[in-house]
Amino acid sequence: MIPFLDLKAQYASLKNEIDAAVLGVLASAQYVLGPEVAQFEEEFAAYCDAKHAVAVNTGTSALHLSLLAAGVGPGDEVITVPFTFVATVSAICYAGAVPVFVDVEPVTLTMDPAKLEAAITPRTKAIMPVHLYGQMADMDAIMATAGRHGIPVIEDACQAHGAEYKGRRAGSIGVSGCFSFYPGKNLGACGEGGIVVTNNDAHAKTMRMLRDWGQERRYHHVLKGFNYRMDGIQGAILRVKLRYLDVWTAARRTHAMRYSSLLSNLDTVETPVEVAYRRHVYHVYAVRCRDRDALHRALEAEGIQSGLHYPVPVHLQKAHEDLGYRPGDFPVSEAAARTVLSLPIYPEMTARQVEQVVAAMEHDAYVS
Ligand SMILES: *Cc1c(COP(=O)(O)O)cnc(C)c1O
Repeated sequence: MIPFLDLKAQYASLKNEIDAAVLGVLASAQYVLGPEVAQFEEEFAAYCDAKHAVAVNTGTSALHLSLLAAGVGPGDEVITVPFTFVATVSAICYAGAVPVFVDVEPVTLTMDPAKLEAAITPRTKAIMPVHLYGQMADMDAIMATAGRHGIPVIEDACQAHGAEYKGRRAGSIGVSGCFSFYPGKNLGACGEGGIVVTNNDAHAKTMRMLRDWGQERRYHHVLKGFNYRMDGIQGAILRVKLRYLDVWTAARRTHAMRYSSLLSNLDTVETPVEVAYRRHVYHVYAVRCRDRDALHRALEAEGIQSGLHYPVPVHLQKAHEDLGYRPGDFPVSEAAARTVLSLPIYPEMTARQVEQVVAAMEHDAYVS
C-alpha cells in the first residue's frame, strides 16, 4: 500500500525532539500563545523574509484577520479564484464581503492576471490569489494591476510554505501572506494552526489584537475581536519542524522531478509545470488526465492512494449558490476540476515508491 501521505513516519523521525518540546510546554503551563509561539513567530517571519508574523489557530483565521486588517467589511468585494480549497472563499464571507471570482490560467491553475482587470469594480477592497499546490501565482502581473487601482493583495499561501517567485518568498510580496499548519500541509502542526506574515506594522498590530479578543491590554477591548490564538504546544512543535522544512521541500522536489521524468513516457497524462522563476514546493503533485476517475479507481484497486484537489470548483458548490454563478462561467477551473489527480507525495516517500506509482499508472494505461 502506498498512502497519500504519512504523518506517522514524520512523527517517528522527530519523536524525541517533538516529545521534548511538548513536555516543555506542559511543564511551563504556557498553554495559549506564550514564549514558544512568540519565538516561532520570529523564526517564521525570518523564514518568509517578512518583518512580522502573527500566529493564529488556523489558516482560515489567518485569511480572515488579513482581510479585516486591510479594512475589508460588509458590502465590499474581494477578488479570488474558484479553483481553490473552500476556506479561501469562506474567509471572505466571514469578513462580510462578497467573493468575486476570476478564472485560473491553464498551466499553473493559479489566478489568470489577464482576467483580473475586468473583475475590478469601485467596491473591490482586496485581491486574494492562491498559490495552488505549492506554486506561486503570477505576482508581478497581479501586483501591477492591483497597484494601478490601489488595491491590497493578500496571498493565500496556505499550500506554499517556502515557495518563491523570482527569489521572493511566498507571503512577502502582498500586504500580507497567510499560511496553514493543518497536519497535512508542508509544515504541519499536531493539530490546527495558522499564521499571517506582513511587513506592515499597523496591520500586524491590528491582527495581534483581533486574534486575542481585540484587547490592547488585558480587558481593554478596542476592537471587536476573536479567539484565534495559537496553542503553546503547537508553537513549540512548529519550531522543531521548521528546522526541517527545507530538507522536506528538497525531498518533495526530488520526488516531483522523478515523477515528471518517468511520466513523460506516458502520453495519457500531463505532468505539472514548474514555471521559470517560480520555485514550486509541491504540496500537491497533480497530473491531468482525461480519464481521471478511471485512473483514480484503478490506482485505488492497486493499493495506491491518490487525491482530488479539487473535484468541484467553489463557484459550483451548493454553499455558494447565492453568488449566482453557473456552469460554464469559469471554464479553465471547471476543466481542471474534471481532470486533476494528485499522486502521493511526502518527504518520507522513497524513490522506489514513486517508481511503483508510475508503474501502476503505466499498467493502467494499457489495460484501460
Ligand atoms: C488549507 C488551506 C486553507 C485553510 O487552512 P486551515 O488551516 O485548514 O484553516 C486555506 N486556503 C488553502 C488554499 C488551503 O489549502
